Amino acid sequence: MQLRLFDTLTKTKRPFVPIDPANVRMYVCGPTVYDFAHIGNARPAIVFDVLFRLLRHVYGAEHVTYVRNITDVDDKINARAARDYPGLPLNEAIRKVTEETERQFHADVDALGCLRPTIEPRATEHIPEMRAIIDRLIADGHAYVEQDHVLFAVASMPAYGRLARRSLDEMLAGARVDVAPYKRDAMDFVLWKPSKPGEPAWPSPAGIAVEGRPGWHLECSAMAWKHLGEEFDIHGGGIDLVFPHHENEIAQSCCAFHRDHMARTWMHNGFLQVEGEKMSKSLGNFVTIRDLLATTAFGSSKWHGSVLRLAMLMTHYRQPIDWTVERLIEVRRFLPDWIGAASGVPPHPDVPPEVIEALADDLNTPGVVAVLHALNREAKGGVREAAGKLHAALRCLGVWNGEKPDEIGSYGVDVSDAPSEQEIKHYIAARTAARAQKNWAESDRIRDELAQMGIVLKDGKDASGQPVTTWEPAR
Ligand SMILES: [Zn+2]
Repeated sequence: MQLRLFDTLTKTKRPFVPIDPANVRMYVCGPTVYDFAHIGNARPAIVFDVLFRLLRHVYGAEHVTYVRNITDVDDKINARAARDYPGLPLNEAIRKVTEETERQFHADVDALGCLRPTIEPRATEHIPEMRAIIDRLIADGHAYVEQDHVLFAVASMPAYGRLARRSLDEMLAGARVDVAPYKRDAMDFVLWKPSKPGEPAWPSPAGIAVEGRPGWHLECSAMAWKHLGEEFDIHGGGIDLVFPHHENEIAQSCCAFHRDHMARTWMHNGFLQVEGEKMSKSLGNFVTIRDLLATTAFGSSKWHGSVLRLAMLMTHYRQPIDWTVERLIEVRRFLPDWIGAASGVPPHPDVPPEVIEALADDLNTPGVVAVLHALNREAKGGVREAAGKLHAALRCLGVWNGEKPDEIGSYGVDVSDAPSEQEIKHYIAARTAARAQKNWAESDRIRDELAQMGIVLKDGKDASGQPVTTWEPAR
């Protein structure tokens, strides 16, 4: 079995050969902790967790180091802290925001079946490494000081733009770069900047008298260096990070350490849309992981984390994904069925080779899903070995942690059976409550779920003009 991964830098799927098989090293850009993680943030968490599990399977669990950082110094964090805790000193408010958000992020990704990374470094704990990189870059003419800022001189690096495959003109047009008086060139980016009064601040490098704070791109170069070395195996993140974030990480690390590569393989997951639309707060289709996992009026989770995880993995990680309720309903129908078939049979000692082979082919998770459907059919046909293989595969993929089938299919309703009249009344009451709170997403979700069970809702008005919802079986 040869692991092959698609590398964004060379735009090819290549055999993966670790620098040191005894310590395979992966860095993934983590969250900036100021708000609830949305379902788009869940995608890299799940995708690179699957890769982490595969690498552990191939090289041994103790031979893989997975670093995912926590960005805890950022303008958005400062703004959120000032808004939410106006009575507190800013630094205290920032600590509250980052600690709460980090706790929530962990609860969310734990529920999605993601293993914790080996190391989760915080940016604010790596200021000495950032200063050291800045000193190296200035010494070699790759960075300069201007008006208490330190900037990376993009013109000093001929290979700049290699990852994004864009010319300087295209990058200028696409990046909405700020023209600032302290920049020699509009493309130059900030490595260090002065802090405003009350903001987090550290002694500045390069003889700058006022205290300052790091630029975002520099944080990842410093944390990757500290925990994985000057050059490592895999760097991952969402496709939206290719430019400028990852391009700038490469510039900083390659110039500071005189290397051709920061990471040998660059991997990026595709975009996520919600019901065919770009997700945005203004469109009202901003879906947080917490919303999806939230407890319903029926006392059960809206969607089990395993349903969300498997729904994500039904699309190949490099493809754009359209996140729909229809997909979730589909998974909630077949995952409990798989678990039912695998329950009561001990897991096969080996994960089925066809599952590992599909994963080793650039994480072909749709291929894995097809294998699992086939195993399920065999298991239900009475083949005990297939049930054991299915069991082992579900555990390996992280979509089953021993729950009973009806814990995964929520509401305690078997979606293949028609709901009782009492149950329909519960659904309608929950939907009416959601509509009263203008929670249209939830309202639509409940309507869609009933539709899936063959129940059609009709919104109308009663004799006195009050809104009323009736139902009838679909014809
Ligand atoms: Zn990063």
